[in-house]
Amino acid sequence: MELNDYIASIPGFPREGIIFRDITPILASPKAMRHVTRKLADFIEDQNATLVLAPEARGFLFGLPAAVEADVAFAPVRKPGKLPRTVVEETYDLEYGTDTLQIHADAIQPGDRVVIVDDLLATGGTVQAIRHMAEKCGAEVVGTAFVVELDDLKGRDRLEDVPILSLVHYE
Ligand code: 5GP
Repeated sequence: MELNDYIASIPGFPREGIIFRDITPILASPKAMRHVTRKLADFIEDQNATLVLAPEARGFLFGLPAAVEADVAFAPVRKPGKLPRTVVEETYDLEYGTDTLQIHADAIQPGDRVVIVDDLLATGGTVQAIRHMAEKCGAEVVGTAFVVELDDLKGRDRLEDVPILSLVHYE
């Protein structure tokens, strides 16, 4: 399967100078979606994970089906104010300003083996924030998995020794 054929590149979105990698053609194809889900689930199984964490909104699209396929628990990572129970949270730097993410505190147990799934790895800020939350709860991040990796942004370097699966690479 040539997964590149299911990723649209949109120059100038969301602003000039950026080429947005649009994964919605994957969602439109059950064949592509099954392929991605199977690859992610194989990785989750290989890491002996017990929990998948994925950030809203595009992380959900791949993280939940892969967790179900691998037969492990899933918990959503959300923007502030969306989750109704006690949360663990992390604030991290963006190019301009900061962002905060939250997870239900009781969704992560000490000793959990966590795989973080997202649609795309850019600078790695999002996945690092999720990793910190998992570690605050006593869990270990045993892998990170992405449909797309933007190599030039070097998010990989921030993940140090954590295994990384990326299905498609762009500069
Ligand atoms: P990072 O935190 O690694 O810098 O950015 C990754 C996050 O930004 C991911 O959650 C991803 O959804 C989003 N993102 C940044 N650029 C793109 C892009 O070109 N395409 C898509 N689909 N998501 C992007």
